Amino acid sequence: MTDQITAPTFAVEDPATLEVVGHVPDLGPTHATTAVDRAAAAFPGWASTAPRRRADILRRAYELMLRDQHELATLISRENGKSLQDATNEVVYAAEFFRWYSEEAVRAGGEYGESPGGGARTIVTSRPVGVAALVTPWNFPAAMATRKIGPALAAGCTVVIKPAALTPLTMLAIAEILGEAGLPEGVVEVVTTRSSGAVVSAWMADDRVRKISFTGSTQVGSHLLHQAADRIVNASMELGGNAPVIVTEDADVAAAVEGALVAKFRNGGQACTAANRIYVHSDVVRPFLHAFGAAVEKLTVGPALDGAAIGPLVSANERQRVNDAVELAVRKGARVAYTAELPAAPGHFYPPTVLVDVSHDSSIVTEEIFGPVAPILEWNDEEDLLDHLNNSDLGLAAYVFAGDLGRAIRIAERLEVGMVGINRGTVSDPSAPFGGVKQSGLGREGSRHGLREYQETQYLSVDWPT
Ligand code: NAD
Repeated sequence: MTDQITAPTFAVEDPATLEVVGHVPDLGPTHATTAVDRAAAAFPGWASTAPRRRADILRRAYELMLRDQHELATLISRENGKSLQDATNEVVYAAEFFRWYSEEAVRAGGEYGESPGGGARTIVTSRPVGVAALVTPWNFPAAMATRKIGPALAAGCTVVIKPAALTPLTMLAIAEILGEAGLPEGVVEVVTTRSSGAVVSAWMADDRVRKISFTGSTQVGSHLLHQAADRIVNASMELGGNAPVIVTEDADVAAAVEGALVAKFRNGGQACTAANRIYVHSDVVRPFLHAFGAAVEKLTVGPALDGAAIGPLVSANERQRVNDAVELAVRKGARVAYTAELPAAPGHFYPPTVLVDVSHDSSIVTEEIFGPVAPILEWNDEEDLLDHLNNSDLGLAAYVFAGDLGRAIRIAERLEVGMVGINRGTVSDPSAPFGGVKQSGLGREGSRHGLREYQETQYLSVDWPT
């Protein structure tokens, strides 16, 4: 919220140094409702603002994010812990959603047709859904916000947004940028809180909120879908992942290693699209493991502001969770083949780790690791592998590395996931529809598909005088 607020505050901690980075208001359901009051009051004006004007503001916000990219990246690194390189990449990626949707804002289009019986004409238009509630996670505090705010504003919606309590400062900085870009008061209302459930429940019960867009765990997403069912609230869900990397026997092993390193260790493995399990054909597993392990041993771990490639995990709880998952895997027969060195810093660091001798059904393979741990598994039979991979409740992303592009595409088309990177370790692109199938989510973000999530279709049936 942009005006003065009297509320208790909470501290935001740097997970690398454990220093306090800042304090933000700890708002509750009353403030959440005030935010909806303001967003609902701003809605008619924003919805009827000319698309070109909405586009110009988004475009300006894109430019301002690039102008401030160093400050924003430093802030992301400080509150989230990720490396400065990852944080800078995130700022550029996040800003791109504002540019992309500044371009989409003026291309909403519509349809016109004659009804088959003649006489009536059909006019189809898109309208903004209304006030949208946005809930974002801590792992990409800028990009997960702009990926929702960009299309929402382009469509003519106003929004209330709740960033994760671990990383609220980045969202507040983006809200300031939107203000500087000329966004009217009330169009984006930020509510920082440690009481996520109470704040979001107040929104889900509020008749004026017509949309929930959530990025986070499948468990919380499912809970919000139950709440959305009560009032039939339009819902978009970007949930957990369990991405496999598949390396075939004819793959360029060096390129596959490079791609798998990016897919696994970008953001320290704390990404929904992160490689969770790496399946290498037995013909090439030795050279792959050797090169992958050697690269992992060289990864520098430490505070982002010291230039390390891998930062800490975001919290002590997350570190403990990853540690427990590895210990359990080792108790069940896995072996730590390679690790990187830990720094002497006080933060929540976990060493990049390569596991081998992992059983296909162990929890480190079937559950989202969300940390810098890479289980390497061998495969021989493509049919068996595909059966095994598709036997999962999650279906967000996958990566295929193969020499024969036709085979790579054939494998990709049979994978039950929303996105496949072929011979590359990233899939995120503002111009492409990001999202998952099964329990990985509902709906898409980015591209023209992302705009549709914030639009309702209306059609006019017109008796046409002849
Ligand atoms: P989380 O579900 O714990 O939290 C996400 C957001 O929901 C936070 O803002 C949190 O405060 C809020 N929240 C928590 N409990 C809530 C409740 N009861 N009611 C309403 N809101 C609540 O997830 P996380 O740990 O912050 O993020 C990690 C998860 O997010 C992983 O599973 C990851 O795969 C997923 N993720 C998915 C995508 C995607 O696009 N599919 C992108 C990034 C992260």
